[in-house]
Formats: sequence, structure tokens, C-alpha cells
Amino acid sequence: MVATHTISRNDRNALSTIAAEAKSNLNSSEFTLLADKGYNNAREIEQCQLLNLKTIVARQELVNSNPKGTTKEYLVDQFKYNRRNDTYTCPAGQTLHTFGTWHTKKREDKISYQYKKYRTPKCKHCPVKHLCTGRAKGGREIERSQYAEAVELNNRNYKRNQKLYRTRQEINEHIFGTIKRKWGYNYTNLIGLEKVNGEWSLIMLSYNIKRSFNILEFDDLMQTLKKWKPKYRKAWRLRSNPTPNASITLPAFYELEIAA
Ligand code: SF4
Repeated sequence: MVATHTISRNDRNALSTIAAEAKSNLNSSEFTLLADKGYNNAREIEQCQLLNLKTIVARQELVNSNPKGTTKEYLVDQFKYNRRNDTYTCPAGQTLHTFGTWHTKKREDKISYQYKKYRTPKCKHCPVKHLCTGRAKGGREIERSQYAEAVELNNRNYKRNQKLYRTRQEINEHIFGTIKRKWGYNYTNLIGLEKVNGEWSLIMLSYNIKRSFNILEFDDLMQTLKKWKPKYRKAWRLRSNPTPNASITLPAFYELEIAA
């Protein structure tokens, strides 16, 4: 586990912060980020790409919220975006244009985003209009958000890397299985974000030590820890009332625990 923190907001707004933390901890300039669809948020995906990360975040299923409206064959992902002309081509082969005006959409979480609208006058006489839109007046309208390019790149990555994406579960789900089911940490004992973060960091630290122990076994782990030269300050300096020789006498395990 290379990065961890708890938050008091929706998971869907969490991806770029934890990705930045992992990038910093790994001292890495780039890596591939795999995340399930619970983290699919256009703004977060763009933020991750700006961090030079290759995002492979599972797509959320497009659903028709209006049973009398758009049918599956005419959902927005069936419309092809033409970057050169900034237009869309609909399944009936008509071209939807934009006036180029950016509109603002406010969401429940108060984080707004901007989008452009695309329309065609051909909808008026389209023989499949009843399958494409439930609007009695006017035609179909497509919205393209300011994050559309980042989402499209992510979707291409997801489509091309299905095998890699499937390894996501193997990489991280067992960690939570062990911590929650085997160790019984289904809830935190403390209250308040700062305290919960402390509690959770200790759980993750314990997990990393146990996991390292299982991989390296005791002797190799101790040798590795003895040779380890962390970049942060010695443990005794973190104490409010340091004892002069504490950093010499503390075993490596203990130093690690305090420093982390
Ligand atoms: S209703 Fe308009 S957007 Fe939909 S298929 Fe017909 S022409 Fe295309």
C-alpha cells in the first residue's frame, strides 16, 4: 500500500488526490492508474491525466432515464465526435453543430462544469426521431463537457487494456478483504477526520509490515529494515520530549512506526 488517507466526501471526487499522493510517495513521474467505476468522474480523470498518469477507469453504464425518450441505439455514445470540425454525427448520419457557447451546469455537490450544446435542424423531419429523443418540440441535443477529451482518452485506454484492467481486483481487493474480514476493521474506533486518518494509517502500516513479512520472511525483512535509509527525520526528533539516545536504541521496527 503506497498511499492512504480517508476523506469525508464522496469517493467520486477522490481519485486525483490519492493519485497525487501515490505519485509523490513513489517518486514517479508517470504510472498507469486503474480504478473502478465508482471513481469515474470526468474532472478527476482530467486532473489525473494532467499529473501525467495514464488513466484506466471503468466506464459507467449509460442508461436511459426516460423510458419514453432515447432508446439504446441512440444513446450519446452512439454519436461520433469529429474533432476537426467540432461537430457530432448522429446514428442517422446527420451533423450536429454548436454555436460554441459554453454553458454552466450546477451539480448537487456544488461543483459546476461547463459544456457546449450540439443540435441539427434535420431532427424535425427525421423518421427515427421517436427513437432518438422524447422531446415533442425541438430535436435532439447533445452536450459536450469541458472534460470530454480526457474522458474519451480514458475510455479508449479502458477499451484497449481490458486484460490489464482485470488485474485491478487481484492487486488491491484482497488488501481490504484481509483488513476488514480477517482483522475485523469494519469500522473505525475514533471519530473525526484527523483521528480516523491516524487510525487508518496505523492499520495500513501494520498491513504493509505483515505483507512484507510474508513476502520476505523475518530475517530478510529485518536485514532490509536495518539497511533502510528513510528520507524523513529520525524518530526521536518527532517526540515532544526527546531522549538523546532514542534514535540509537530504538529497534528499526519501532522507528518506522513512530516516523510513519
Ligand atoms: S432525431 Fe436528429 S439526432 Fe436523432 S437520429 Fe434523427 S436527425 Fe439524428
